[in-house]
Amino acid sequence: MKKHNFSAGPCILPQEVFKQASEAVLNFNNLDLSILEISHRSKDFVDVMEEARELVLELMGLEGKGYKALFLQGGASMQFVMTAYNLLENKAGYINTGTWSDKAIKEAKIFGEVVDVASSKDKNYNYIPKGFEVPSDLDYLHLTTNNTIFGTQIKEFPTTDVPLVADMSSDIFSREIDFSKFDLIYAGAQKNMGPAGTTLVVIKEDILGKVTRQIPSMLSYATHISKGSMFNTPPVFAVYTSMLTLRWLKENGGIAKAAEENEKKATLLYSEIDLNPLFKGYAAKEDRSIMNATFNLAEDNLKETFDTMLKEAGINGLNGHRSVGGYRASMYNALPLNSVGVLVDVMSELERKA
Ligand code: PMP
Repeated sequence: MKKHNFSAGPCILPQEVFKQASEAVLNFNNLDLSILEISHRSKDFVDVMEEARELVLELMGLEGKGYKALFLQGGASMQFVMTAYNLLENKAGYINTGTWSDKAIKEAKIFGEVVDVASSKDKNYNYIPKGFEVPSDLDYLHLTTNNTIFGTQIKEFPTTDVPLVADMSSDIFSREIDFSKFDLIYAGAQKNMGPAGTTLVVIKEDILGKVTRQIPSMLSYATHISKGSMFNTPPVFAVYTSMLTLRWLKENGGIAKAAEENEKKATLLYSEIDLNPLFKGYAAKEDRSIMNATFNLAEDNLKETFDTMLKEAGINGLNGHRSVGGYRASMYNALPLNSVGVLVDVMSELERKA
């Protein structure tokens, strides 16, 4: 039987997507060829790329609003570099809410002045900073909408006239947001969208062309836009499987429906964390992520028993990141509510036993 997979990423994808993707590896579109052995310039693959790009804009409500969707390589980590390379001329602002923001800041500093507009480093990133001023002379403001490691999520975005750049790697397509507030959004595919190997970039074209430095072709958004996300050989399997996941999302009610389910899952788990005296949540309550719930055992000596019970219940991937410890339950779009139910049952069973 399939495990209850709470892995932080790569992570659970819809079972029907796994099935369709594996069928395409053997025989794609009844071509009697694998998707892995046809040209990326063939009509069959170009159609996949185009459908994926269109689905992204459609699901985000960004069609006809001057945005382009790209499927690039190098992970979200490459976007730490590309955003600054393409957009930072004088000064950029970053909101530092965790390990990934911190890494983005480090890369941006290579290209220009970077200011920490706000940070939650003082409390090991267990909250989202609020009430800060955004300077008006920034080339852009960068934020991480969901902090995968610490389990915090930005619920309200700053109002500013400065272009907004967001790393949405771990909560893309999980909740309803006015995406048109953002000028550039990026996300590694390997959480809510598909397998590792491609990164989604959604970019408003008119923010480009404002830096004076020369940008190598492969790192330039303009290149990828002009070539329809096919400047070089794209990661065909990752793009195909992402497209299947996007189709699945659309067929199942889009972001609105996914958000409803995600709320149910998060509410179920956080209620147990708050009610059960054996557990303690890590993130500040008002900033809790609906994607990644971080929590600890109140008493370390229960760890062995709890871990054994998790294993027996078929629960996978619940270990916390090394910088936080404890446990982290990642509840991405494809995770069924029932899996959270199984986890909650194990937690309350531990309370009965202890
Ligand atoms: N940003 C966030 C929010 C992430 O969760 C991750 C990976 N877990 C990254 C960036 C880095 O992504 P990648 O490994 O694709 O470079």
